Amino acid sequence: MSYLKPGLTVEAASSICIERCRAQCCQGPLILCLSEEEKLIFQQKADGMGTPLKITLLGQSWILKFQDHQGDRCPMLDSETMKCLIYEDRPSQCHEFPSGRIHGCEISYD
Ligand code: SF4
Ligand code: SF4
Repeated sequence: MSYLKPGLTVEAASSICIERCRAQCCQGPLILCLSEEEKLIFQQKADGMGTPLKITLLGQSWILKFQDHQGDRCPMLDSETMKCLIYEDRPSQCHEFPSGRIHGCEISYD
């Protein structure tokens, strides 16, 4: 089920995230839970950029804490453009966001 506001296209939502919200949910005291395949995508991209990456295994998931990375942000967030560097291959957690009503999130139901 999508929690995008009715009438909002994916493109319009993406524009709001980048230009108005400045990718707030890709920063701060948040974590990503990654599958093995998603972790490999992060690792390959980070290696190509020479970006340090800290991902730890917890149970069946790989855990990435934004606060373990430069600027307290996801290492896949371009800090100048506020665009995701792996947008086409972003993890399912990001792909499905907002998966519920998020207070203060302009693209989800209030
Ligand atoms: S909080 Fe909502 S509007 Fe802001 S970046 Fe995240 S999804 Fe986009
Ligand atoms: S992978 Fe992309 S969309 Fe997901 S938190 Fe990182 S920068 Fe944001």
